[in-house]
Formats: sequence, C-alpha cells, structure tokens
Amino acid sequence: MFTWHFMEALVPVQAAFGVMAPESALLFVILSPVSAYYKAAADGAVSMYADPDVVRAFPGGVGNRKVGSNYGPTIEVTARAAKLGHHQVLWLFGPDHELTEVGAMNIFMVYINEHGDKQLATPPLNGLILPGVTRRSILELASQWEDLAVCEEVITMDRVIELNKSGRLLEMFGAGTAVLISPISRIGYLEHDIHLPTMKQPQPVFQRVKDTLLAIQYGHIEHPYATVIS
Ligand SMILES: *Cc1c(COP(=O)(O)O)cnc(C)c1O
Repeated sequence: MFTWHFMEALVPVQAAFGVMAPESALLFVILSPVSAYYKAAADGAVSMYADPDVVRAFPGGVGNRKVGSNYGPTIEVTARAAKLGHHQVLWLFGPDHELTEVGAMNIFMVYINEHGDKQLATPPLNGLILPGVTRRSILELASQWEDLAVCEEVITMDRVIELNKSGRLLEMFGAGTAVLISPISRIGYLEHDIHLPTMKQPQPVFQRVKDTLLAIQYGHIEHPYATVIS
C-alpha cells in the first residue's frame, strides 16, 4: 500500500542576486508514490517528544506557510528526540504548553467530552499551524459522522495529562498528505512518560479516518474530493 507524495518548489528564475522578491519564478510540482516513510513502532504507532523550550512557529512568523525555512530548525530537536527513543517532535507553544502540531503533521485528539460523547478535536488555525488539506478533509468528513462530535479547540499538555489520567483520552494521531494518518501511543514531556491507549481502541477513529481518505483517493467510493479518471 502506498500513498502519493507531492513536492512543490518555487524557484526564482531571474539573473539577480540578493534578498528580494523575484520578478519571475518557475513552479515545480514533483509527484511520486511513497510507502510509509516515517519510522514507527512495530504496531505502527509513534512516540512523541515534547520539549517546551523549543518552538516551531511564533506569532507574526510564517509557521502557517509551507516554506523551507520552517523545517531547517526542526532537524536538531528531531535528532535529539530520536536519541531519546521517540519518532516525532510534538510542537508546543506558550506558557500553557499548547499542542500545535506533530513533526510535519497536524494533530488530532479523540476523547470523551463532559457530556459523555466521543469528541474529535484539533487546535484552531491561530497562525502557528499549517492549514493542512488533510486536516480540513478530516474535519469535514468527521463532522458528517453522527456518532462523533468534532471541534477546533486549544489543547494544553495539562489537559492531555488530565484526560489520560481519568481514562477519557482515547486516541491521538497526526495527519498530513505524505503519511496520511499516524497514530500516537506515547509522549515524553518533562518528567512525564505518557502512554496513550490509541492502539487499544476496538474501533479507532484514526483507522476510520484513514480508511475513508484512502477509499476516496483510490476511487473506491464516490466523493466530491476526487475525480476518477478512466
Ligand atoms: C505539510 C504539513 C502538514 C500537513 O499538511 P497537508 O496539506 O495535510 O499535507 C502539517 N503540518 C506541517 C508543519 C506541514 O509541513
């Protein structure tokens, strides 16, 4: 099983040297099939490393754009995470240690809300978060599912810890075009080693989301997101 990965590059094609807006540029779009290229544990889940001292994006910056300068500064801490036995970095922001993204994916949490209902949540687009097409697709698809409440809300580390302790946190996963859906089973955060029950759910939301997106991508179900070319 593979998914499609695309890479765009906007290359200035102007005989000039300097820091300035180019007058002309070429847009390259490279499309190729990829297999799962993120490392994960044997069960397919990833472990995240959350260091509140590093930031991926900041107010007034370009964290909500897919530009190369956002990714260089992630390499050192990602290598540090790997040395500590984690697969991805969980990007936190602010004094409340708000969850923003994971690696180069948007983040989702499934939990039991105060009404006893299953809720799918992801942080709101506050300028620090890449507005992923996978994120938006998941929000749109899941909001049609009657057995699931869907919302965009601030998620802090305290909230994650509290929901997990009370047994109400069910799943966490990352989402993006390249990897599609990446279930998360562990977070290393300060002195905490948080084990999440993502892979222990009888009918996990992450799997339903993944199956639905793949079925649309492969044309197995008819959907306005995709046009089947015969
Ligand atoms: C690419 C990317 C995503 C996912 O965006 P998609 O449009 O779903 O592929 C999320 N966060 C970051 C930081 C990214 O670079």
